[in-house]
Parts: sequence; C-alpha cells; structure tokens
Amino acid sequence: NAVTIRRALLSVSDKTGLAELGQALAACGVELVSTGGTAKALRDAGLTVRDVSDLTGFPEMMDGRVKTLHPMVHGGLLAVRDNPEHADAMEAHGIGAIDLVVVNLYPFEATVAKGAGREEVIENIDIGGPSMVRSAAKNHAFVTIVTDPADYPALIGELAANDGATGFEFRRKMASRAFSATAAYDAMISQWFAFADQQELFPEMLSVNGRRVTELRYGENPHQRAALYTPVGPHGRGIAQARQVQGKELSYNNYADADAALELAAEFRGGDPAVVIVKHANPCGVAQAATLREAWESALACDDVSAFGGIVAVNRPLDEATAQAICAIFTEVVVAPDADEGALAAFAKKKNLRLLLTGDLPDPRRAGLSVKPITGGLLVQGRDNGAITQADLRVVTKRAPTAQELNDCMFAWTVARHVKSNAIVYARDGATAGIGAGQMNRRDSSRIAAMKAAEAAEKFGWDTPRTKGSAVASDAFFPFADGLLAAAEAGATAVIQPGGSIRDDEVIAAADDAGLAMVFTGIRHFRH
Ligand code: 5GP
Repeated sequence: NAVTIRRALLSVSDKTGLAELGQALAACGVELVSTGGTAKALRDAGLTVRDVSDLTGFPEMMDGRVKTLHPMVHGGLLAVRDNPEHADAMEAHGIGAIDLVVVNLYPFEATVAKGAGREEVIENIDIGGPSMVRSAAKNHAFVTIVTDPADYPALIGELAANDGATGFEFRRKMASRAFSATAAYDAMISQWFAFADQQELFPEMLSVNGRRVTELRYGENPHQRAALYTPVGPHGRGIAQARQVQGKELSYNNYADADAALELAAEFRGGDPAVVIVKHANPCGVAQAATLREAWESALACDDVSAFGGIVAVNRPLDEATAQAICAIFTEVVVAPDADEGALAAFAKKKNLRLLLTGDLPDPRRAGLSVKPITGGLLVQGRDNGAITQADLRVVTKRAPTAQELNDCMFAWTVARHVKSNAIVYARDGATAGIGAGQMNRRDSSRIAAMKAAEAAEKFGWDTPRTKGSAVASDAFFPFADGLLAAAEAGATAVIQPGGSIRDDEVIAAADDAGLAMVFTGIRHFRH
C-alpha cells in the first residue's frame, strides 16, 4: 500500500516552509502543480512549477474564487486507481493522477480577528481549498493530504524512508487531520455568521460538535436557555438515548441528576440488586441487597430527608413491589434498564413521575471525554474511568481489615467517586450510612456524613447509627488526621483512601492509635 508520489498539487495561503518542501519534492522527482501565489513562491525559490490553469485549461478566475474546482483536478484526486472504470474515465478525458495535495486554507480566522469588514471576511471563505482537502482525504487509500506546515518535516521524512512513497498508515493519519481541519474551519465560519448577524447566539455558538436532540424548557435556572445535544460520531447509549415511558418533560436538572444516578448505578452492573438515590448530582443513599425492594429501603434510610424529590436509578429491571415503594415518596425521575408490567402499572398512577428506560447499563469503565467551559475556553479531559479491585489495596495499618470491612471499603469507595469533592462516605453491609459531599474541607464532610447517620438512627429508632462498625471512604487523601479521627469517633472501624499525603505517617499513626484498619488505593477520584 505504498504509493509513490509522482505529481503534487500545492496551494497554500500560509507559505511557511513551502520552499523547503518544494525542494524536497523536486529532489524526489515529483512534478509540482500549483495555484497563482503558491506557484510564484515556488518559482522564486528556483523550482519548476506547472500552473494549475495549464492543467485545467481554464484561467484562475473571479478573484480566485474558481481556481481548482475542475474535473482535471478532482478527477485526478478522487479516481480509485485500481478500479478499471475509473482508469478508463481518466484515460478518456486525459486526467492525470495527483498523488499528493498540500493545501492550507484562506486565513478566515485571522481575517475575522483583525476586524475586517463583512465583504473581506466572506472573500476569505475558502471554497476550492477545502474541496481538494476533502477529495484527497477521502481517497487516502491512494492520495496523501497535508494541511499543516508543521507536518511538512514528517512528510519529507516519510518520503525519505519509503523511497519517495508514503505508507497507508501515514496517509490515514493525515486524512484524519485533514477532516479535523475542514470541520474546524466550517465551525469557525458558522460561528462568525451567528455573531455577525446578531442572530440568536444559541446553539450555533456551541463549540462542541454536537447534534441538537431537543430544546429544553430552560437551563439550570429559568432565565437560561438550554438544549440536549448528542455527539456527532460514535457514542454509547446513556441518559441522552433513554426512552421516556411516562411523566412530565425532563428538565435540564433532571437530565443532569438522572445522568449522575445512572453513572453510579452502572457501577453495580451485573452485581446484586442496587438502588441509587441522587439529589443535586450527589448520591444521598445507595444500597445493595438481595432484592431491589430491600435495597430501596436501605438506600432511603441513609437520608430520607434529602431523598424527597430525588432521582432514583437501579441496576436491573424494576418489579412491582419496588415501584410501589418508590411511589410512596415524592420522586422526580426513575431510571432503570427496564421495568415489568406490574412496575409500569404502579408508576402509571403517578402521572408526573418521569420514568426512563435505558436498556443495558453503560460500561462504567468506558473511555470518553468530559468538557467544562471556563472563561474564554474549554477544559477537556478523559472520563474518570480509573478503577481498582481489592487486590490493588495496600494495607497500611497494624490491623488488616476483615473480609466484611474490605467489602464495605470497596462499596464506600465506589460511591465516593461519584460524590462531589470533598467526599466522605460511610458504608456498612452494602449500604451507605452517611454521605458528606461538596465541602471545602474534608473534616466538615466527615462531620456532615456522621451527623446524617446520627439523625437517621434517631428517626428510625436504631440503638446506634449505621456508622458504628462501618468503613469510611475518602475520595482524596486525608491531609491531616482530624478528618480520620472524626470518622473514628463516628464509629468507623475501617478506612479506604488514596494515601499520598506528606503527613501519611501521622495519619497512619492516628489510625493505629484508634485501632482502625486502613487501606490505600493509590488512586484518587476528585470530582468538582
Ligand atoms: P495562491 O496563494 O496559491 O494563489 O492560493 C492558495 C489558496 O487558494 C489556498 O489557501 C487554497 O486553499 C485556495 N484555493 C485553491 N483553489 C481554490 C478555488 O478553486 N477556489 C477558492 N476560493 N480557493 C482556492
């Protein structure tokens, strides 16, 4: 699949590195074809160049609007070389193959940036350039496309290493970059229109490549506009694709909370029945039990005050008994892989309750992107899909955790990664006993979680809060012993945390003094 470069078409606005590239190509015996300004620059560097007008039999015309838009060019780019019909067409019309295209586009962005007027900006919408880039990139099985002067050295290196040819892998990689370049170029143009015409800036302003699925009534608050998008290109199934079986229209906050609930429920994919209750994107009760119904009761007992108006997600099809129990309190949204007839009938009595069926839960370890706008930009990172198993835990205290404590540690850790930092989660017997979320210091999160557990004990008439004999998870290391001691005071006997603080020794000593068993995960899960 090596293709020897015999003829190259160069048409560049940014002439950086052009002369060197031209010389390297000429040295490989490549015929150079070029448009006006590019041809001149190459000739000035002492190279022999054929004008594209000579190739097309048409002059460059209409202020350069029509230079390369011609079958002699696009036929030479798009022909499938080993297709006999394509070869016949080339022969019949005297079309010669073009093996390499080096194009960069009219400087649209720079023209806008310098404050040019409307006409000048419009004139800087490149038409022929992107067409050639796309033709060449589409036909990358045979044609090499380079759109960035920064890639010239790589091209020269590729030719040197392959005796004047390029390999398929190189062409594929360059084609991928080429389509990114034209996509970004068109996105800039569409955004300029949105600004220039003082049109509605929404959603054309969206700088993430997405397809609008539906406009939402409003955003986080009524004065904010909002819409749901799905990414263009491959993506998995999730809340955005869920089937709404009944209930009021989903709001922006419903989507966000349902997503948080689904993500956590997905952690228990294939495991024992699990119920997650979320409020304002934080779990307020999570439990696993022999049945969904029992898991619901257990999750609800963690913080039934917060659960009011909550979003519930489960890890397996809903049954009637669980549906009825959920309906007994005010619930905004229920998310499940599926629901049986009895469950559907139970929910049907609650007209406003939104029921979302997702099918198979998404893989919690899948790759993906998370995007966060900042002033003047976007922060983009990979999904937090890092994971550990019990085997990865390092015991750091004199006492090792019991098997029961280890299970509780893992459960608490799984929940903690879905709680906004600082996150402290107490768990016992497969249920959260107290959750402290979103505090600006870890000790306060510890205290809040313990306080909630104590309130629950009082309310339900338990002798001791469920934090007694629990495991406690912290999403990031304890910087001081105080947070850990607050947990011990609440009755935790085991601790799971990343470790890695400069005061780890101090924290471990405090754990030993308190008779705690502590494990380090070596990985943290900030969530801001
Ligand atoms: P040059 O400086 O060589 O005269 O022009 C190079 C620029 O022309 C490149 O940015 C290329 O993308 C653009 N270009 C090439 N062919 C066409 C065409 O047919 N129409 C338009 N509008 N631009 C073209």
